[in-house]
Amino acid sequence: MSEFPKESEQVNLSLQDADPTTLKSILSIHWNRICNRLKSEVGDVEYRTWLQQIILGEIEEDELTLYLPTRFLRDWVRAQYNSKLNQLWNMELPQIRRVELSLLEQTGSSDTNLEDSLTKSSEKKSLHIPTKSKLFTNSAVSKNSSNSASSEEEVKTGLQHQLDPRFTFDNFVVGKPNEFAYACSRRVAEKPSSPGFNPLFLYGGVGLGKTHLMHAIGFELAKVGNISVSYMSAEKFMYRFIASIRSQSTIEFKEELRSVDVLMIDDLQFLIGKDNTQEEFFHTFNALIDAGRQIIVSADKSPSDLSGLEDRLRTRLGCGMVADIHATTYELRISILEAKAACANAIISSKVMEFLAHKITSNVRELEGALNRLIAHANLFGRPITLEATQEVLHDILKSHERRVTIEEIQRKVAEHCNIRQTDMTSARRARAVARPRQIAMYLAKLLTSRSLPEIGRKFGNRDHTTVMHAISRVSDLMEKDSSFAEDVELLRRMLET
Ligand code: ADP
Ligand code: MG
Repeated sequence: MSEFPKESEQVNLSLQDADPTTLKSILSIHWNRICNRLKSEVGDVEYRTWLQQIILGEIEEDELTLYLPTRFLRDWVRAQYNSKLNQLWNMELPQIRRVELSLLEQTGSSDTNLEDSLTKSSEKKSLHIPTKSKLFTNSAVSKNSSNSASSEEEVKTGLQHQLDPRFTFDNFVVGKPNEFAYACSRRVAEKPSSPGFNPLFLYGGVGLGKTHLMHAIGFELAKVGNISVSYMSAEKFMYRFIASIRSQSTIEFKEELRSVDVLMIDDLQFLIGKDNTQEEFFHTFNALIDAGRQIIVSADKSPSDLSGLEDRLRTRLGCGMVADIHATTYELRISILEAKAACANAIISSKVMEFLAHKITSNVRELEGALNRLIAHANLFGRPITLEATQEVLHDILKSHERRVTIEEIQRKVAEHCNIRQTDMTSARRARAVARPRQIAMYLAKLLTSRSLPEIGRKFGNRDHTTVMHAISRVSDLMEKDSSFAEDVELLRRMLET
């Protein structure tokens, strides 16, 4: 079923008779929309790495052709996104039943696929550990090539680590939720490969500083010199592993990996379900640990919770130091905002900072994003950052962070505030002392939740929706007439909203 029935129907009608130019522009419109959908579904990074280079081809009966610039990319996209692309195209234009992924300029070329390559790659030779490869230098220069056309070449020419110069220990704000992970990272940076700290396994939710800490370790080690460090995401690890199979340079890839002093693999959860790459990582892991090299891994869960990862790998991952980064606290968020504002030379009132720290609680990345936007806005328009400006500029972000208050929470808070029992919210008692707070709670339920009047009524001891309507108009009336009553209700509202 198309999610965009209108447009699809329109295009369906016109496709058959369209001249080539019109057809091309119709397809481009759809392709644009599909790209936007893909971007929002897979995220910017993944989109840029794998999908951005797809070139819209032609349509022939029910088959649409998309082109990719390299065989590797084509196989990759086919293996990972084929069904998604088919599904999205079919949703946009129901008469497209098949999406063909072809190699640019070499359509119809031999068709070995990714899985085959992976299976063929099961040569498990014993590997010697060569002397340090020059390919892993200590330079902090990021040579991040997202141009996948050169990716096969990249594998041949070596693995570059990519460290972000902003992610240093100095820039990392330490607080209760991350102090343990920070201390462990410091320790590993000072003394890599010390017993008990190898591997170092950092885990925690998204945007809480795992990547930051790994890069910081990398920089610290780079300062020492003569230590070869390699950092890569698990995704990149897989990408390079497969690319090396493609370019028949697996041995080089393995040897290079096994030649580093410190190997960091970020977001290991990506390897779940990627059995061949997992196996390759397991061997690399063992070879490095056995040779006394340091391994640092990050993931979104602890080793024991990473179900889908091979047991033997999970066991080994948990053998060193496992450090958890917890969700941020209000205090940490304030400290981070202060540090980041100071770093950007921005003057931001404590009121605005408190507001942000209250409202944006999800993770540091979002908090940082909000602050950056605020600062950019202030610079652009030369306006001071007031609370009002903050609310205006961050309107969309704040909206998505609005807390979803439940009716039960409202009942609890109002009962607490008015010194009645929570059960009185649903009881049949009509005494003013309980009836009024119940009305206030109903009023707030309408204001702060998206529940309908009958739904609210049901939550208040199965009362009728007219009772809820009456409560709402009664409370509104009273608020108009009695300012201290109005203040009370406002206070409750604010407490429930933050
Ligand atoms: P993760 O890898 O856990 O998803 P990142 O390390 O990418 O998170 O952090 C997201 C953003 O938040 C980065 O810009 C990082 O610099 C910043 N950040 C996270 N934690 C802190 C912290 N404690 N101090 C300063 N910046 C932080
Ligand atoms: Mg990360």
